Order: sequence, then structure tokens, then C-alpha cells
Amino acid sequence: MKIHTVFCRNKDCPNHREENQPPHWFSRRGYYKTKAFGRVQKYQCNTCGSYFSDQTYSLNYYLKRKTDFKSLAHHCNSNNSNGFIGRQLQLSTDSIRLRRDRLGRNALFVHCSLLESLSLNEPLVADGLESYTASKYFPNNLNVLVGKESQFIYGFTLSYFRRKGVMSKKQKKRAQKEYADKSFASSRLAPNFMQLLQFAAGKAPSNQIVLHTDEHKTYQAQVKLFNQASRRINLIHHQTNSKHHRDTKNPLFAVNYLDRLLRKDCSMYRRETICFSRSSYNELLRMAFYLYSHNYCKPKRIGTQAKQIEDRHYSETQIPEHQVQEYKNLIYEARFLVSKIKKIPRFFKKIWLKKMGTPLQNLNNWVPKFAYE
Ligand SMILES: [Zn+2]
Repeated sequence: MKIHTVFCRNKDCPNHREENQPPHWFSRRGYYKTKAFGRVQKYQCNTCGSYFSDQTYSLNYYLKRKTDFKSLAHHCNSNNSNGFIGRQLQLSTDSIRLRRDRLGRNALFVHCSLLESLSLNEPLVADGLESYTASKYFPNNLNVLVGKESQFIYGFTLSYFRRKGVMSKKQKKRAQKEYADKSFASSRLAPNFMQLLQFAAGKAPSNQIVLHTDEHKTYQAQVKLFNQASRRINLIHHQTNSKHHRDTKNPLFAVNYLDRLLRKDCSMYRRETICFSRSSYNELLRMAFYLYSHNYCKPKRIGTQAKQIEDRHYSETQIPEHQVQEYKNLIYEARFLVSKIKKIPRFFKKIWLKKMGTPLQNLNNWVPKFAYE
């Protein structure tokens, strides 16, 4: 399988799809000089006349400084903040954020492309991992859908709720001010959880899915609604009290384990520190990259040094090893295009284009034009 070869950047051109390309479909059209990358070869499509270059499909596309994305990736999942990473790589925090967005999109591409060959062969566990964005007045739940046995992250969404619990007079006044011009309607738990159920249904080979959650009433209500509407899939729902001892025998172990890893690996989920995500989209695209490294790179269990090179979380799914390797060779070099994904789950497309519902819509929602390609 060829996963990233040269193609015409015009989505409407037959040469955009590699399988349609006739021989000699493009011509070389000289070079242009850049400070960061030296001489760059230009090409022109012989069918539609579109231009592209060696830089067009590079992850460094449009950057003024060549970036070592592999090194950046190591920092991202080592619990380092953007400020710290910026000082190490001599880039501003905004430059780090833009580059993290690129890694996040590439990770979504790899995951969505690999999901094409996957059909669910295990029970699932869903949960909401609690954190907050921008300030503690915007608590959120990262709703994750994880394999009960594989601990593979299939998908995630983000929902928001208003700050709960006892507040002082001053805090109540602040809350009123914070919520005055914000809407939580597009980011509630129920529709976000339903999207995950529908995604799971699309991947189920039989007419039955087993799902474990805690005793949250919204889960119960949404599963009921799903079963009433679904003609093909019957969702069997098991609920476990979230106060049960969190060991490997707990049916919710897969999400408890993920929660623990996220607190350890991602600075935005560190508790009681100055590190937290400043915008919903930052959080979601960072999480996309974390999903990639958790599913495809991190060893499932680290017992001995030798075990580190053995099973990964995807090993128990039906995703072919050689495909994962091909993507791993490219993820820090190539710029993957959303138009090349055959089937992208709705919630992942919204993350890619920063269209996910959030009460903090106005923060960092700029999307570069090339991300739509
Ligand atoms: Zn073309």
C-alpha cells in the first residue's frame, strides 16, 4: 500500500488520487530559493495546471524555520509545558502551538486511516476525564472510548459544564460575569457521548456491543436513546460505581489507567499547577497526538527492559503491523491532508478544522488555509 506519494494538490483533479495517475502526469518547473530550506523543486500537474513543490507535502510546509518534529513530539508527551519546550527549541510559545497543531492533525490522519481496517473485537469502556480549560470556571470532561482489553483509545470528544460546588460571594460574582456571554449548548455531555456510541456502532462487526461506564445518569439515558433508535446494534450497558477500588479487576480499569497516564504525560492534565490548556482546540489537538503515541508507540506494559519493544496497544486490534510502521516512518516528515482520509469520524473532523462546540469559541480557533486541503 502506498500511503503518501506525490499527488496533485487540486482536490477536483483526477491526479489527486494516486491510483488514477497516468505515467508522466507532472512536469518539473524549475526551483525557488528559500532561506530555511535552500533550493526547492517546483512541479506542475499536466492535467489541471496546478503547481506544487517538494515543500507542499512536507510537515515543515510554510514554516520560516525548519523544525525537528520528532524532537518536539518527545517534549510534548514528556509533561513539558509550551514555555519550557519553547526555551529548549528556541521558539516562541505561539510557534510551539502552531507546530503542535500540525502534529495533532497528522496524528488524526494516521489514526483515522488505520481505523479503516479495524472492526471492534472487544468490549468498550467510556468515561469522562475531568480537567478544565482557561480557568476553573470552565470545567470539562474528556469523553474517551477505550478498548477494555487492549486499552486502545478509539475516539474522544470534549464536553463542558458550569462550575459546581460551593462558591464564595466573590466567586459567584465572577461566575456570573464569565458565563454572561457564553453558551454551553454545543458542548454538552449527552450529544458528545452519543457521537462516540454512533462511531462504535459503525465499527461493530456483529449486532451487539458491550459497553462499561460508571453510574452517570447521562450515560444511561443516552444508551437507552441509542438502543431505541438503532435497528442493527444492541448496546449492552454495564455500570460500575466509580468509587470501586481501581485495580485491574475493575471493569473500568482501561479508563482509570488512561486517566493516570494522562496526568503523568501531559502537562495540561497536571493537577494543582500553573499548567492547563488555554483553549479547547489546543487541548483536543494535543490529545490527538497523545492518542497516536499511546496507541501506536507506547508499550502496553513495561515489565522488563526487553518488554519495551514488544506489544503496543494496537497489537490486539486487527490493525496490520506493516501499515502502522509505514505511517510511523512518515508522521514527523510528511504533511497529511484531510481530503485523503476515506472516512473520518465526525468528531475528529471537527477537531481537525477546530469546529468542535465549546463555550470558549473565541480562543485560538484560527485554522490555516492549508489545513482544509
Ligand atoms: Zn491536477
